[in-house]
Amino acid sequence: KKKRAQVEDHRISVSVRKRPFNDKELKVKDIDVITIPSKDVVMVHESKQKVDRTPFIKNHTFRFDRAFDDSATNEMVYRSTARPLVETIFEGGMATCFAYGQTGSGKTHTMAGDFSGKNQDCSKGIYALAAEDVFLMLKEPEYKKLDLQVYAAFSEIYNEKVFDLLNQKAKLSVLDDGKKQTHVVGLQEREVKCTEDILKLIRMGNSCRATGQNAVNAHSSRSHAIFDIILRSKGKLHGKFSLIDLAGSERAADTCTTNGQTQKEGVKINESLLTLKECIRALNLKAPHAPFRDSLLTRILKNSLVGENSRTCMIVTISPGMASSQSTLDTLRFADRVKEL
Ligand code: ADP
Ligand code: MG
Repeated sequence: KKKRAQVEDHRISVSVRKRPFNDKELKVKDIDVITIPSKDVVMVHESKQKVDRTPFIKNHTFRFDRAFDDSATNEMVYRSTARPLVETIFEGGMATCFAYGQTGSGKTHTMAGDFSGKNQDCSKGIYALAAEDVFLMLKEPEYKKLDLQVYAAFSEIYNEKVFDLLNQKAKLSVLDDGKKQTHVVGLQEREVKCTEDILKLIRMGNSCRATGQNAVNAHSSRSHAIFDIILRSKGKLHGKFSLIDLAGSERAADTCTTNGQTQKEGVKINESLLTLKECIRALNLKAPHAPFRDSLLTRILKNSLVGENSRTCMIVTISPGMASSQSTLDTLRFADRVKEL
């Protein structure tokens, strides 16, 4: 029975989360164009013109494993996305959770949590919620006997290079071994014993990503952040959960600025998000070839994504407003292709 469940579970689960309006959107009286009519359906209502406030002319309907409206908390989203994958790493497997969405749609809020203190919503994100469950499960008799230690690593891929967010953004080298496996050399792993340890590392890594509020956004729209929760038994890898705050989904569309540097970066990120989509599709379809070699993100994640005991989920974050509706549609179409069999 277990075997069959694993095969069925191999397909990536894709869920959508709509964020609430922010102050800026409220101020300009942006219109809510997203409805979540049931637990797995999301609708985008498109009007004739950007300024049109009359009845919508077109409704786009998408179905996902789960759809969360703007009242959902991080905890609720976590429970039905990443939570079931925690068990995978205790069973000796690899798990991956992606947050995908436009810049400003809530990826970092969902994954890292919110440390600004301005939100009532519990400040913990999926990194910390997953770690808490790992600490709980360590105490269960069947896992206690494995004598596991928990470590965390936090890295960033920017412009096809890897940086260590727990070590002053040290640039790390990437090596391929003889078995077509890619290794990030020297990535620091910190042993963690409690939630407070994890929260400290998240704060440290986040402040390392970039300084200054605008800088954070400009930078994070182009970079992927990877938070790893690693289980080791006597030093040997037992399981790993990679939680990934992806670059802004607007980078997967052909919208690069004309500025030389930005364009170059944009094109690279563009490739890595498109490559990720192609790789997941190939895995879903059990196709013999997937283009893992085409981007650093997919090279590094290959081992986590292809294994027989691998499980993957994607959380697609979307903004509610009409001003974002085109980008939201692009994002949902991308996600639709990811889940499609
Ligand atoms: P992204 O990482 O996708 O660029 P952020 O996570 O930084 O977006 O979110 C942008 C802003 O919106 C932040 O100020 C964040 O606190 C707020 N926000 C995002 N999602 C939510 C949510 N579900 N509830 C409340 N505030 C949110
Ligand atoms: Mg972010």
